[in-house]
Amino acid sequence: MKTKFACPRCRSVLNPGEAIVLAVRVGDARGLIQLSPEPADYRYVCDDSFGDHLQIGDEVDFACPVCCEDLTSPHSEKLVEILILTPDDEVHAAQFSRICGEHATFVHDGRETRSFGKDRSRFDDLTFDEHDRWW
Ligand SMILES: [Zn+2]
Repeated sequence: MKTKFACPRCRSVLNPGEAIVLAVRVGDARGLIQLSPEPADYRYVCDDSFGDHLQIGDEVDFACPVCCEDLTSPHSEKLVEILILTPDDEVHAAQFSRICGEHATFVHDGRETRSFGKDRSRFDDLTFDEHDRWW
């Protein structure tokens, strides 16, 4: 079984294929973006109608494409949070930066946090509440 990614609000699966599909907005530009399921892989795919508006440093709003709820992390307004449903039926959480070009990802399994990306040290003060709601 593959690892699934899910919306923390409606629990819909966000990676029907390989890529994670999310709704994105910058200013008036809206679209869909495909993200890699690998936490250290910052390549993404989006249509030019959205990508042409994207600039390094932009704060991108991410939302669930199913329930349209905002996915901003409760831990930091600079991060997006989605759930990881492991093949062992565990629920982990992934947080990644909303800032275009900023490479920082955190995967928390309820016990420890693994961090990825060249800019992760910008979030050194980030702490996950021990009694976070997913565990
Ligand atoms: Zn949702």
